[in-house]
Amino acid sequence: MSDPLADAVAAVDAAQDQARAELEELVRIPSISADPDRRGDVQASAEATAALLEAHGLESVRLAGVEGSHPYVIGEWMHAGPDAPTVLLYAHHDVQPPGIVENWDSDPFEPAERGGRLYGRGSADDKAGGVAHAHAVSAWLTTHGALPCNVRVLIEGEEEIGSPTLQTFLESHIDELRSDVLVLADAGNWKVGVPGLTYSLRGLAAADVELRALDGPVHSGMAGGAIPDPVMGLARLLASLVDDRGDLAIEGLWADVRPPTDAERVAIDGLDDDPDAFGRAMGVRPGAQMVGDPGATLHERLWFRPSLTVIGIDAHPIKGSSNQIIARAAARLSLRLAPGQEPDRVIEQLRAHVEHHAPWGLELRFRALEGAPAWQTDPSGPAFDAARRALRAGFGAEPVLMGVGGSIPFVGPFADAFGGIPALLLGPADPHSRIHGENESLHLGDWHKLMASEVHLLSELSDRPSPR
Ligand SMILES: [Zn+2]
Repeated sequence: MSDPLADAVAAVDAAQDQARAELEELVRIPSISADPDRRGDVQASAEATAALLEAHGLESVRLAGVEGSHPYVIGEWMHAGPDAPTVLLYAHHDVQPPGIVENWDSDPFEPAERGGRLYGRGSADDKAGGVAHAHAVSAWLTTHGALPCNVRVLIEGEEEIGSPTLQTFLESHIDELRSDVLVLADAGNWKVGVPGLTYSLRGLAAADVELRALDGPVHSGMAGGAIPDPVMGLARLLASLVDDRGDLAIEGLWADVRPPTDAERVAIDGLDDDPDAFGRAMGVRPGAQMVGDPGATLHERLWFRPSLTVIGIDAHPIKGSSNQIIARAAARLSLRLAPGQEPDRVIEQLRAHVEHHAPWGLELRFRALEGAPAWQTDPSGPAFDAARRALRAGFGAEPVLMGVGGSIPFVGPFADAFGGIPALLLGPADPHSRIHGENESLHLGDWHKLMASEVHLLSELSDRPSPR
């Protein structure tokens, strides 16, 4: 007797070469959503993605959008019956700019395989996600003529610019997208061979701070010692933002940072925790120490505690500098927020801190930039159990429940639009994928395991009675 699940997994395995050819075709389209000159390519990428979904048996496939958006691609297969749950499969077809093209070992938009990895912009982030969804669907349809559950697919075209219209799009297309479970294939694996399920993302807040001392630059010999230097003032102000070990020292900020729950702590304590190895992997120079509370584990510091980075400074460049006190200096501050912290409140705490600590009465200008709250989901319940079983079956390894220190703007709008439905955040990247960097790559073996996992996942989720 044939086993439908085994047949579908065999079908996804048999289609590996086809999947790779389809992915390569998509990677050749430079669908850079941040570049206005590439609008045509984002459109071409949406059309190629739509053709892919249609070829894999999805129905009602079309490009969609709202005022000013890049094209979304949607499709569905809704014949599993009204009692079967509906799963929404998400990925995005736009990509980051290539960065410095000379730093790539091969053309960013001409896919190339080296050492079992496929190099190219968008290979891992996130064109592989969309192709994986298509193959999970067709593996069932070609072997069994039906899917174990209803499926909707949404492939976004502007994730890399912060999903500016996603909230509006979801609200205006809610009837076509209504689902019981979200499967978001834009995250990644714990490491090669070990799948990940992401349940926690830090938030983001940012601001520009400028200190002005003078109408214009003055001679440092004539004025130094009496006239304040705004660059030194800025350095003192920035230094006041952290304590000696590099933890944030902004008044009131820690009151909103909640410590990890017992369950989170158990999950974190189960992970390899080697700050030195992490430092080496990140290229930390010999002798440079790690920062943050040494009483907190590495992953607690990266996922559950706030941090601040000075991502830009304006002063006079060394080249062309002369003996002057310049008029003003500025810094752009980027904060990663822990679960529990609200971006607006953090910005007000930061504003109060810099107003209090700006030295010597220098003129202060403070400008808040866009922020996003942290996101977390409780990684328990039937959908998470299903995902863990599916990933275990696909990879032959136990999945790791992961936090991510970064922020993914699209998860907030999903949480808002669909209320409390489970969000399973997985994906094709791994720590070597260098997403957003030069030489982005996809591990082909793990990508195939992800597809097999998705085949299992559709079956696993069908066992769950629909909550509607
Ligand atoms: Zn992505």
